[in-house]
Amino acid sequence: MSDQVMFTLDESEQVTHWYNVVADLPTPPPPPLHPGTREPVGPDDLAPLFPIELIMQEVTGERYVEIPEAVRDVYRQYRPSPLIRARRWEQKLGTTARIYYKYEGVSPAGSHKTNTSVPQAYYNSLHGITRLTTETGAGQWGTALSYACALFGLECEVWQVGASYDTKPQRRTLMEVFGGTVHRSPSRLTEAGKSFPEDHPGSLGIAISEAVEVAAQSENTKYALGSVLNHVLLHQTVIGEEALRQLANAGEPGADIVVGCAGGGSNFAGLAFPFLREKLAGAQSPRILAVEPSSCPSLTRGEYRYDFGDTVGMTPLLKMYTLGHDFVPSTIHAGGLRYHGMAPLVSHVYDEGLIEATALHQSECFEAALEFARTQGVVPAPESSHALAQVRREALAAAESGAEPVIVVGLSGHGLLELGAYDTFLSGRLEDDPLSDEALAAALAGVPEV
Ligand SMILES: *Cc1c(COP(=O)(O)O)cnc(C)c1O
Repeated sequence: MSDQVMFTLDESEQVTHWYNVVADLPTPPPPPLHPGTREPVGPDDLAPLFPIELIMQEVTGERYVEIPEAVRDVYRQYRPSPLIRARRWEQKLGTTARIYYKYEGVSPAGSHKTNTSVPQAYYNSLHGITRLTTETGAGQWGTALSYACALFGLECEVWQVGASYDTKPQRRTLMEVFGGTVHRSPSRLTEAGKSFPEDHPGSLGIAISEAVEVAAQSENTKYALGSVLNHVLLHQTVIGEEALRQLANAGEPGADIVVGCAGGGSNFAGLAFPFLREKLAGAQSPRILAVEPSSCPSLTRGEYRYDFGDTVGMTPLLKMYTLGHDFVPSTIHAGGLRYHGMAPLVSHVYDEGLIEATALHQSECFEAALEFARTQGVVPAPESSHALAQVRREALAAAESGAEPVIVVGLSGHGLLELGAYDTFLSGRLEDDPLSDEALAAALAGVPEV
């Protein structure tokens, strides 16, 4: 093992294809259902919302999908993202584990979300679309889509969850810098928004309803989703494909533990699915772990059933681990990861026992994030800190047992725009807010019977 800590890729090793895990799964994932007829949705049902390429990617069984040259050209601005050995953190932890983090904070938006905003804007631009609508929670997705729309000459209209719009004005400014237009959700611009009081804190589910409503009403406008759907997870697999090659360049034959934070599931799946392919093929045998916040624990405490992707019930019914589409996460929680459901593909592989999941309190996550910042010099996004906290647990367990696992962790973004959350933690004002059984039961009561 050399002293090298950062691993990149030669031109000849660059990733040219996204990986579709569906091709390798032992059983096919359940199809999405039409919200009215409750029959499986076909491409025609999705045509008002998405361009044909994305619809085909949503349903394809092909193992690999070629990344268009125009998209690879943008990826080259920040990819390959580095894989970095966290030597100083390892020393601090006194662990025998070898920890590598895959750092997506180098992208223009500061998170992995550019990996899918760029292809989504690109495909839409091929069809005379002039505007994309979307929702955003903490603001990363709205930022990533605003930038991608600027590249391909599209307008970008973003409904930002009210609570985050009110408390994170710099996030809105960043979206505007990249050319986006931002509305507080619930807004007065849509029927969906008007069904809630104007001062409501909002939720991703409500903001999705608003963005979908506007896209469905206009010929030249389509909708873009930043997580959850199969095509989004597909685009994110560039993360795991790079990580596998970089790990080999680091002299490691494989990973023993792969960890990612999971909100809607896209950065987790993007890192994990290429490793899952290796696992299913018997080439590697990593434990693969999704980490969610205890305030929004869809995998660990939700139910696996058909539910709407939005609050008003306009989207297809997705079979997923869900807390109920009426679920409004606590505003106390500092990070993102606040979607009521989990990506159908992540839900399916979890249900099949191919991955593990755990839920952590945010105070433990911020403690791990500070330790990481003070050793590695990178301020993690509060979302990413959930993955780091789990890695910390695994590394301390290795220190106890003397095992030498290779741990690969997804650092989905930097936290430089989330210093308010760090301030809350540092000044001792951060509270843990696990979801109560009563609130969970109330939210689950709204899930439709299918
Ligand atoms: C959006 C976001 C997440 C959560 O979304 P996933 O789809 O679960 O990846 C996690 N980390 C960062 C930095 C994000 O911006």
